[in-house]
Amino acid sequence: MRIRENVSLKNYTSYRTGGTARFFAEPSTTEELVECLAWAEKNSIEHFIMGGGCNLLISDQILDHTVIVLSNLNRHILRKHKKIYAGAGVLLDSMIVYTIRSYMTGAENMSGIPGTLGGALAMNAGAFGTEIGMLTDEIELLSADGSVFTVKGADAGFSYRKTLAVEGNIVLGGTFLFEEGDRAESERIRKEILRKRALKQPLEYPSCGSVFKRPEGHYAGELIERCGLKGKRIGGAMVSVKHANFIVNAGGATGSDIKNLIEEVKLIVLKETGVQLEEEVKYLGF
Ligand SMILES: Cc1cc2nc3c(=O)[nH]c(=O)nc-3n(C[C@H](O)[C@H](O)[C@H](O)COP(=O)(O)OP(=O)(O)OC[C@H]3O[C@@H](n4cnc5c(N)ncnc54)[C@H](O)[C@@H]3O)c2cc1C
Repeated sequence: MRIRENVSLKNYTSYRTGGTARFFAEPSTTEELVECLAWAEKNSIEHFIMGGGCNLLISDQILDHTVIVLSNLNRHILRKHKKIYAGAGVLLDSMIVYTIRSYMTGAENMSGIPGTLGGALAMNAGAFGTEIGMLTDEIELLSADGSVFTVKGADAGFSYRKTLAVEGNIVLGGTFLFEEGDRAESERIRKEILRKRALKQPLEYPSCGSVFKRPEGHYAGELIERCGLKGKRIGGAMVSVKHANFIVNAGGATGSDIKNLIEEVKLIVLKETGVQLEEEVKYLGF
């Protein structure tokens, strides 16, 4: 497995920001991934796992990590009756399209969520009332000691944007359960969901989706808007005018611009509304 040196991470995140990884690898099989992990351990270099980089904000510095990108890992889909096995590197949205074309239903509401299945399982990604955890029969994981094991979906500890079973482990793939569906109806739902996303979200700018989790009893976007923060900028980072829970790269933003704006929004929202916002976005290197 080839370990590359000094690789810019900008092209690996949806924010189009991020510094340089001292060491970098893109394994496409479990064996290659195990090799990368062994190499990092032998050289006492901490590793960091990335999927599609759609929920990540990476600092602008040189990162003394081995960054392991899994967007090519086990990129295959296998169908068995109502079950589908998909590898961690398969895009969530590609699996959704595959299910619809296979006359299976259940995942349509998550149409348009960017990123890999590995990332979706780690984050328990979801939208419009459906979360990936609801469809998960089993997660296939690699543990820190190098053993491969599976956890039933019901035992995985899925909660809002969190999956306990994935913490400290690496997702290799997952098996998902669907119902038999009507392809035309599924296509209609998917189209409608994509239309709503394009209407509400600033998809024309690089972003990480929603920056903050939904606080109990509130919507983060509403609180941010109430504080008059829509359009607020630091450097190239801007609170979206279209959807206040999106902080976008409006052009030439650095990771620090975005991080500083996130901190400022949190401070102002706490002061003005008493609500402590918590990030959904994950950080590396800050
Ligand atoms: C425009 C836009 C819209 C979005 N809309 C939504 C939405 O509606 N709902 C939603 O939930 N999210 C949304 N997101 C956020 C993002 O798409 C999801 O969180 C997605 O599941 C992240 O997948 P990823 O592969 O990009 O993960 P990454 O961003 O690469 O990683 C996210 C986290 O998962 C970990 N991880 C990644 N792969 C693995 C693996 N194989 N094993 C173990 N850990 C892993 C990483 O270490 C990191 O902690 C949106 C993002 C954008 C840019």
